[in-house]
Amino acid sequence: MKIMKFGGTSVGKPERMYQVKDLVTTGDEPTIVVLSALSGTTNALVGIGDALSAGDKSLAKHRIDELHAHYKQFCSELFRSDMAMKEGEKIIQEHFEFLAILLKISFNDAISKDILAQGELLSTKLFYTLLQELQIDAVFLPALDYMSIDEYSEPELPKIREKLSALLAKYPEKKLFVTQGYICKNHRNEVDNLKRGGSDYTASLIGAAISASVVEIWTDIDGMHNNDPRIVDKTRPIAHLSFDEAAELAYFGAKILHPASIWPAQQFNIPVKLLNTMQPEALGTTITANVQERGGVKALAAKDGITAIKIKSSRMLLAYGFLRKVFDVFEKYRTSIDMITTSEVAISLTIDDISHLEEIKLELDKFGTVEIDHNMAIICIVGNLIMEQQGVLQDIMGSLSEIPLRMVSYGGSKHNVSVLVDAAYKNQALQSLNEGLFDF
Ligand code: ADP
Ligand code: ASP
Ligand code: MG
Repeated sequence: MKIMKFGGTSVGKPERMYQVKDLVTTGDEPTIVVLSALSGTTNALVGIGDALSAGDKSLAKHRIDELHAHYKQFCSELFRSDMAMKEGEKIIQEHFEFLAILLKISFNDAISKDILAQGELLSTKLFYTLLQELQIDAVFLPALDYMSIDEYSEPELPKIREKLSALLAKYPEKKLFVTQGYICKNHRNEVDNLKRGGSDYTASLIGAAISASVVEIWTDIDGMHNNDPRIVDKTRPIAHLSFDEAAELAYFGAKILHPASIWPAQQFNIPVKLLNTMQPEALGTTITANVQERGGVKALAAKDGITAIKIKSSRMLLAYGFLRKVFDVFEKYRTSIDMITTSEVAISLTIDDISHLEEIKLELDKFGTVEIDHNMAIICIVGNLIMEQQGVLQDIMGSLSEIPLRMVSYGGSKHNVSVLVDAAYKNQALQSLNEGLFDF
C-alpha cells in the first residue's frame, strides 16, 4: 500500500482536484490519499479564530462569509452533475452552519481547534464526492477515527496503527482510501491538530502505521531544493537525501516538509518522495536511509523565531555537573534546545519555544548571569560527510564574512554545520552561502 499526500495548492483549484484524481487512479497499488485543506483555507480559519478570541464577532462573521463564498464558487466549478453539485452544496452548508453557531457561543481553545479542522474536513468530503461523481470506487476514512496525540501532543503510533489497521481490514477489496491530513483527536478526545503543515506528518505517520511501500508528498515544487526558493534567486532540486539530511532540513526551516514528518518514515525505513502535482514527470526528491554519493554541501535551510540564551558563571570553571543542572531546567519545562556552544565559563544555547522563558530564566539566574537575545535565526548547512570535505568550513566562513555570527556549531554530526545570526541577516546569509557553496 502506498500513501499519497496532496498539499493545499494541489487541491486549491477545481482543475487541480481533477489532476489529483488522475494521479491517484494511475497504478494498481492500493493507495491512501491524504489531503490538506484548499490553499488559503487554514489561514482564513486562523483569522476567524483570532477574531472570535478577540471578541470581534462582526469581523469573524465577515471572514466566515468570505470563505463561504469562496467554497460556493469552488463547488460550482468542481462538479458537473446536479446530484454531485447538490451533495457539494450540502457539505458546504453543513460546515458553514457549524462555523455560524460558533459565533453564538463563548470561545475557548478547543473551539479554535474545531474551527481549524474544517479545512481538511471540507477538502476531503468535496474530493470524495468528486470521485463518486466520476464513479471511482473509494472509501472515506475519517482521520478523527484513528489519528491521535497524547497529553504532550505526541502522536500515539501504536494506537494509530491498531485503529487504522482495524478500519482498513473492513475493506480488503478496496484500492483507494481518502483521509484528512493535519487533524487528530487529543488525550481529552477533543479535535486537535498536528500543527501547521501537519498533513505531511499525517502521511508519514500513516505510512509508518501500516508499513507502506512509499510515502509520496505531492506539492507545488519539484522536490527539496538546495536553498529556500522563496528567498534565494537560483535554486535547484536535490535528487536524493538521507533521512537524517531531510529531517535536519525540515526541522531547520525547509517549509516543504513539516519539521517532524521524517521520523515515522525513518523508523520503519519507508522511502519518502517529494513530487510536484503540477509537473508529475519531474524527478523530485527521494529520501531513503542510505545515500551513496560523494560528500559535499547539499542544501541550506533557515529557521527564525529563535531565542539565544547565554549563561555565564565562574562556577563553571573546572566544575562538573554544571551542564546537567542547566539542562535539567529545560527538561523541567519541556523546552527543547536546538544549538549549544560552550566555553570554560559560559554556555550559549538556543530555543524556539519561549512559552516558559520567564520561569526558565528565573531558575538559570541561580547559576550565573543570564543574557537573552530574541529574533535570531539558525542557518543550517546540510550535506553528506561535509566534515570530511576539505575547505568546506572555510567556504562557509568566507561566504559569511560580512555577517556577524552569534554562534557556530560544527562537529555535532558529520552532516551538518549550523550558525546563529540575527534574523535581520537571514536572507543575506542564505544568498551569500548560495553563491559561495554552489555552482550555478
Ligand atoms: P503544501 O501546501 O503542498 O504542503 P508548502 O507550501 O507547505 O506546500 O511547501 C512547499 C513550499 O515550500 C514551496 O512552494 C516552497 O516555496 C517552500 N520551500 C521552502 N524551502 C524549500 C526548499 N528547500 N525546497 C523546496 N521548497 C521549499
Ligand atoms: N492545512 C494545514 C495548514 O495549512 C495543514 C497542511 O497544509 O499541511 O497548516
Ligand atoms: Mg506543507
